[in-house]
Amino acid sequence: MHTVFLALGSNLGDKIANLLNAYNLIQNRIGQITAQSDFIISKPWGFQSDNNFVNSVVKVTTQLDPFELLHTTQQIERDLGRTSKSSNGLYHDRIIDIDILIYDSISINTPELTIPHPHMKSRSFVTYPLSQIDDSYAD
Ligand code: AMP
Repeated sequence: MHTVFLALGSNLGDKIANLLNAYNLIQNRIGQITAQSDFIISKPWGFQSDNNFVNSVVKVTTQLDPFELLHTTQQIERDLGRTSKSSNGLYHDRIIDIDILIYDSISINTPELTIPHPHMKSRSFVTYPLSQIDDSYAD
């Protein structure tokens, strides 16, 4: 079994419902959610929009390998109605975004997948909820 931390965000529609629907699909397809942060509100990062985000971080136990995990989170994003990915550093409003922050203590650096997530330490909408559920990040 592996321990992973996922960051979720939504800035369109019923944002809390979008996150709760994602939790359901994570439980069904990835594994048990063993801890979840509060929902926090943040300004869009990296693009202009009037729509604030609701963000959270969850801790999940899974048997999926890192790439299976990525493909599963991307399928969940599509199933919840997300139509486009960010590319070339361009971001936009989105129904749901799921990023893999941490997978056990491994490092992966490929064009498709980077773990730990490269921006996780610089974004307070990630570091704050992560610190709520993992003492090692609560500094
Ligand atoms: P997104 O921000 O969800 O639109 O993701 C953009 C791209 O980031 C995806 O196509 C992934 O292949 C890539 N990516 C690289 N590292 C990660 C990670 N740790 N978690 C999620 N996506 C990642």
